[in-house]
Amino acid sequence: MRALLLYRLDLADDIAGDGIDPVDPRAPIIRATDLGMTRGDGVFETAVVRRGRPQALEAHLARLERSARLMELPPPRPERWRAAVRRAAAEVSRPGVVREGEIAAIKFAMTRGDEIESSGPTGWVLGFTVDDPAGVRARGVSAVVLDRGYRQDVMHTAPWLLQGAKSLAYAVNQAALREARRRGADDVVFVSTDGAVLEGPRSTLIARLDGALVTPPPEQGVLPGTTQADVFAGLADVPTRIAPLLRDDLERADALWLCSSTRGAVPVRELDGVTRAVDPELTARMNAVLDGRED
Ligand code: PLP
Repeated sequence: MRALLLYRLDLADDIAGDGIDPVDPRAPIIRATDLGMTRGDGVFETAVVRRGRPQALEAHLARLERSARLMELPPPRPERWRAAVRRAAAEVSRPGVVREGEIAAIKFAMTRGDEIESSGPTGWVLGFTVDDPAGVRARGVSAVVLDRGYRQDVMHTAPWLLQGAKSLAYAVNQAALREARRRGADDVVFVSTDGAVLEGPRSTLIARLDGALVTPPPEQGVLPGTTQADVFAGLADVPTRIAPLLRDDLERADALWLCSSTRGAVPVRELDGVTRAVDPELTARMNAVLDGRED
């Protein structure tokens, strides 16, 4: 990862102009008393950049708004975020900024703000690079199934656990990925304590079952995936369903993918040490849909 650009975004009610303040991408812009730092109390999104445009931007903005609502944060002003993310995507797409073997992405985050001065939310937009996902899409990943420790109805029974919100508190997701590495795997598929298949720590799961592509519903405390949504929308000839998946369905599925903005659709080639069938042709079609998006 390389940081390419950083904007501080002024989220105050009345500002002159667009509120975008470009700063050095490695500049320290968050205070030690910001609740995003001290409590992980904020929300974020990451959009991939293709041909100078942030992909699925409207879906990312809608999810930012959804996460903010779940966390009772002030509603984000979509027009301000849209302008900043578009500008960042155009900037990082100038010739020579992104190197061979990399692609660019834009992370944008809003915290509850400073714990001492109630100055309103803090916002920033970061342009950065990730590895070109072509390699991982071709290789696939190995994954392990891990218990998330919550029931599938957690959003309704204990909404304060914030399942389904894309909060800045990703330490648990990072710990799950470390556990996967300890077990010799690359990634994780979370399941609920009562046997529902959920999502990855940074991806949406798609399973092919009886010829249909199936992904678990957001009501089970998973993020509504922007990548999965565009895969489903773009494959007109393949049946798709948003429906609960059980642990046994993972064994029954004849193909599995983990989908995310920066990587696209990545096949699972091994689950809990067992080799899984992959479908390189359908994977390539999914990624052609994703890489070909206009916005
Ligand atoms: N689920 C979780 C927990 C994630 O962190 C992510 C992305 O980071 C996703 C799903 C996939 O979302 P998207 O396809 O919108 O990137």
